[in-house]
Order: sequence, then structure tokens, then C-alpha cells
Amino acid sequence: MSTLRLAKPVYDAIRAHGEQTYPHECCGALLGISTPDGWQVQKAVRASNIRTDSAHNRYNIAPAELVKIEREARRQGLDIAGFYHSHPDHPAQWSPTDFAEAHWLGCSYVITAVSQGNATVTNSFLLAGATEEDKHFDQETIQADEA
Ligand SMILES: [Zn+2]
Repeated sequence: MSTLRLAKPVYDAIRAHGEQTYPHECCGALLGISTPDGWQVQKAVRASNIRTDSAHNRYNIAPAELVKIEREARRQGLDIAGFYHSHPDHPAQWSPTDFAEAHWLGCSYVITAVSQGNATVTNSFLLAGATEEDKHFDQETIQADEA
């Protein structure tokens, strides 16, 4: 099992974002450094959810926004470590849609359940596999490091 290590303020920011957008989903990108044990996340970048049709159970980062985030990451010597979003009044487990729309092999997908406006469980799933055809989510341990 790999471990997703997050600086504590980043972990808190991800959860707070989900509370602020409740009852809609929030989404964003995670920037960090790859280690043999998993990602070490140093920053979370908020993105706007462009899924206005069904923002409570769908999320999507605009391609142009993603390109901007990638460029900014590289400038800071970081990589895109993964993505996060919230599940308002749903468990912190990936949905079939989450899986179908996950294409960044080797990246971590963090989901925070938000119940009645309060962030509860946060889980992370590593998108493992060598190709789109054999991709699968492996749950990982989340470690929030105090600065
Ligand atoms: Zn989801």
C-alpha cells in the first residue's frame, strides 16, 4: 500500500474547500514530489467545477485551467500529484464516473465526504496500472504531516 503524504495545512485546505462548496462538489489539483513510497504533496490548487449541470455528483477541471496549473507546478519544481474532490452527503469512495474519468496513471485521487456541510472521512486512491485498459484504484494511506 502506498502512502499519500500531505502537509497538514494542505490536508485541512482540501477538507475546508469541500465544506465551502457544499452542497456542491469542490475539486482541485495536488502538487508535489514523487517518492518511492508515494506522493508527497506540498500544495493544493483550487479549481472551479465546470460541471454546472450536475455539480453535486460530477466534477471537471477545465482543460485550460489544468494547463495553467501544470505550468505553475513545473515553475515551482513540482509535479501534478493528483486531484481531489468532495462527495456531498456520500461516502468517500470513488464512483464509477470517478473511475471512468480518471486518466492520470500513477496519480492520487483524494475524496472527502462532506456530511451536512462538515468534512468527515477523507480517502485517497492511487490510479495504478500501466495502461488505460488495466487501470485500477488502489486505496492508500493518508499521512498528514505537521509542519
Ligand atoms: Zn466523485
